[in-house]
Amino acid sequence: MKKKIKYFFKQNICILLIFYLAFIIAYFLDSYSFGYILSLLEEKNMNFTKFTGIILLFYAIIFICKFMSDILGQKIVYLAFKSRMEQVQSLVDKTYKSKYQYFEDNNFMSTLNRAIDFFGGDNIGYQGVIIDMVYLFPYLFLVIISGVTIGKNNIFIVLLTLILTGLSFPIKQKLNDFDIDTDLENGQIGEKLEYFQEITTDNSYGKDIRTFGLKPIILERYEELAKAAKDIINRRTNLATVLAILSLLIEVLNDGLVLYILYLSRNELSLALIFLIFSMYILLKTMFKKVLETLADLNKNAKLFTDYDSTLDNSGQEYNDSQMANNLEGFDIEFKNVSFAYPGSEDIVLDNLNFNINSQDKLGIIGENGAGKTTLIKLLIGLFDPSEGKILINNKPTTADQRLEYFSSVFQNSLLFAGSIGDNLFFNEDNLASDKVEYARSYFAENTLKKDGQLIDLSTNIGQDFYDDAFKPSGGQEQLLLILRALVQDARMLVLDEPTSALDPSKEIEFYERIEKESKERGFIVISHRLAVSNIVDKVIVIKDHKIEDIGGHDELIKRSDYYRHLRDLASSMYESEAK
Ligand code: ADP
Repeated sequence: MKKKIKYFFKQNICILLIFYLAFIIAYFLDSYSFGYILSLLEEKNMNFTKFTGIILLFYAIIFICKFMSDILGQKIVYLAFKSRMEQVQSLVDKTYKSKYQYFEDNNFMSTLNRAIDFFGGDNIGYQGVIIDMVYLFPYLFLVIISGVTIGKNNIFIVLLTLILTGLSFPIKQKLNDFDIDTDLENGQIGEKLEYFQEITTDNSYGKDIRTFGLKPIILERYEELAKAAKDIINRRTNLATVLAILSLLIEVLNDGLVLYILYLSRNELSLALIFLIFSMYILLKTMFKKVLETLADLNKNAKLFTDYDSTLDNSGQEYNDSQMANNLEGFDIEFKNVSFAYPGSEDIVLDNLNFNINSQDKLGIIGENGAGKTTLIKLLIGLFDPSEGKILINNKPTTADQRLEYFSSVFQNSLLFAGSIGDNLFFNEDNLASDKVEYARSYFAENTLKKDGQLIDLSTNIGQDFYDDAFKPSGGQEQLLLILRALVQDARMLVLDEPTSALDPSKEIEFYERIEKESKERGFIVISHRLAVSNIVDKVIVIKDHKIEDIGGHDELIKRSDYYRHLRDLASSMYESEAK
């Protein structure tokens, strides 16, 4: 945090210095004015012209300085915003350098959400800290000059004000501590409340909510959470009220004592000087309070910031953006005694797997739900590292992020991003080789991917939030585009998790024909319940209860594995009943 703030100051030092000068002069002269005018009036040899001249000059300076500090103040808000945007960018960068395993960890995700909130607001979090820091210096400076001006006449008023105003610091601190403590609570409650807001505005949930009459239970849960949130805010309001009263009492005491001191010295001081001291006292009190409040706020934000910054720093940031590995030769993969449990869980999801495959292989993975099929391919393609054992490529042990470069995948929950279809398929211009473009276009035609009666093209946009005329693919159409995205990544081995679940039978057949054809160049691994798959794969890995039950060709397995036959029978009976 300190480094980031230092950087902001260094970058904008000139504008900040001019702003400070204008701000300090404006505030100081403004407070000084009343006493000063009185002192001019007290001067015996002051004529009207001289008086008017001095006053005009005096107010002209105040006016210019106020004007400058207002304009520059706006500019500084813009600079703080700009810096916040840069921080968001670096946060995103840092986040996606974190190992993928953290994204399946609830604690990490919740800290990350709060981090995003920290950078998400205009007046709170990061931008708030910057603005606080910017104003801290002129406030402090005004404390010093008003203190010195008063101190020349009465040091006791300065000390009294510093001590009494200082008492408000623990008060403010207490309120901030409450905010930090309940931020955790609030953060989590807030996230859950957001969840309810999201499902209320999302039509895919809306369907189920209506179909199953879920409204009462949703409202009930929402009310519980809303009550908890109201409770926190209520406690905060009560605390804030007590603290506000205390701080007001301190202020009244301070004002009263200062007025009493001035009353006692009324014989030694001129009226102009008394006014000057009093207005300087108001400036001192106000600015010192602001300094203390700013420090307390900074303290609070620094705590929040440290919390997630260390979480991100500890999230194993070693992953560099996956490069398109265009010249991958065939490669061998070996799983050696690989076991895996999800982070934060004791359950062994994959238990001591050993097998070899080649990137040219055509491989199927089958097993019942929850057996560990998806987890196996997540390990393979480099989303996780094994908890035990090694994954070797060409006989060399690999880390997760090294493996990412070798595979191109379609998961059941893969997504397209808001942008053109070209962006989604090719990511950057360099990959736009004309044969790829042709390949994509013929794919659109073969799969009759149409919007408003016209075939879609690379320039067709997706994402209703971004484009009013966005193409809204159906579930099956989206799956076809996700498959295409994997297909156009040269040379990588294809890894497909139930890739055809949303496709109609004719498209499904076309898909298998296509990857058959593709597989002359590169192999694939497919998880599928579909019987058709066994006709096109060379080898099947059968997973049962988190272990490899058997590996072999379809014919071998039919002969030797009861479990394989059992799975096949289940699948074929399903197909038969579907056919009836
Ligand atoms: P399959 O693909 O064979 O249906 P998965 O590999 O998806 O099975 O899941 C295997 C097991 O791992 C399941 O018991 C599932 O509950 C568990 N699991 C999956 N994802 C996570 C996760 N992020 N955290 C903890 N457990 C998980």
